[in-house]
Amino acid sequence: MRVVVIGAGILGSSVAYHLAMRGIQVEIVDEGHQGKATLAGAGIVCPWATKATDPEWYALYAAGARYYGDLVEGLTRRGEVEIGYGRVGALVVSEDRKELEAAEQRIHARIATAPEAGDVRRVSAADAKRLFPPLRDDLDGVYIPGGARVNGSLLASAMARAAVAMGATLRRDHVSLEVQEGRVRCLDSDGSIIEADEIVVTAGAWASQILRPLGLEHPVRPQKGQIVHLRLPGVETRSWPVLLPMTSHYMLAFDDSRVVIGATREDNSGFDYRVTAGGQAEVLNAGLAIAPGLASGTIIETRIGFRPAGDSIKPILGRAEGIEGLIIGNALGASGLSIGPYAGRLLSQICAGESPEIDISPYTPASA
Ligand code: FAD
Repeated sequence: MRVVVIGAGILGSSVAYHLAMRGIQVEIVDEGHQGKATLAGAGIVCPWATKATDPEWYALYAAGARYYGDLVEGLTRRGEVEIGYGRVGALVVSEDRKELEAAEQRIHARIATAPEAGDVRRVSAADAKRLFPPLRDDLDGVYIPGGARVNGSLLASAMARAAVAMGATLRRDHVSLEVQEGRVRCLDSDGSIIEADEIVVTAGAWASQILRPLGLEHPVRPQKGQIVHLRLPGVETRSWPVLLPMTSHYMLAFDDSRVVIGATREDNSGFDYRVTAGGQAEVLNAGLAIAPGLASGTIIETRIGFRPAGDSIKPILGRAEGIEGLIIGNALGASGLSIGPYAGRLLSQICAGESPEIDISPYTPASA
């Protein structure tokens, strides 16, 4: 059996990795678009604190976080050392006692079935500041030891590399799709057919462009995110927890004295790959209002990513009905670095002709 995976973000890389582990022949093709979401994603993996309530989406979000343990173990066993995953904990903060109490209750209700979240506990403002030193003095918190952060770029590369080590091939190219006698075919940029029994489209915010010629209305659009990276020279940041204020902005730290503040959520942005004054100001103002100690940080870069945003918060995963040989995975939105590795495993099971280990009918793509 031979499979072509279109798009090597977190999702496509995971599909390829899981297929290669089954001994299936895989070719991964990626065009390397500017604004690939996986390269810009902040990398927070902490589903238990979310305010969003869609149960089907949450089931995948929680399963995605849980799956990280097995994923990291498997990649490490295969010799991958740069995976970019750290279980540094997460700190939910608020100045509003009632809001924090509500968050604490919500988290406790959810972790009843998620021991991997660890021993969740309330922390004083002083303790919160000890955990995340640039924080304001007056913010009590709820600490979630199982919260984690991941460098999406490193993880996707590790999965793709592991797939290649098991026999997959990876090439940079733009591909397109067509239907012949009810079956999908993949063409490279020269117009040559890439032979495949199954084609998996994991092309993120660009997927509708290659699916439209097949008569498929694929409801996924780019949602632009601008995310600012700071360096705090000489400061050891690697063990700082992910910081989750009760807004859409957040902070997290990485190993190289780097603190990331995210992010704008710009609908109707199209593929506008520019750092804007308004975007940068929004993110910095939100970050410094919570963590004024970051004011002396050096701005080292602002990344742009296009989140694949669907009509609802739910991902799209499964076989495209009405077209033979076509599997679609997309619409991971703002939680794709958490959901992507597990969703890739589910897609690999479909590709291999098995029933996926969970019911994926709520995520079925539209038919042709
Ligand atoms: P992508 O990573 O965008 O990959 C799609 C790939 O397909 C691209 O490389 C593209 O070049 C390729 N492609 C497209 N068309 C073609 C074609 N015709 N031929 C060949 N290749 C093609 N998620 C979290 O869980 N936690 C977070 O904290 C978080 N923070 C985020 C912050 C920001 C600012 C952004 C932008 C996203 C964030 N996300 C987060 C979401 C997450 O990054 C995305 O949901 C996820 O990366 C989507 O992965 P993907 O593989 O579907 O798409």
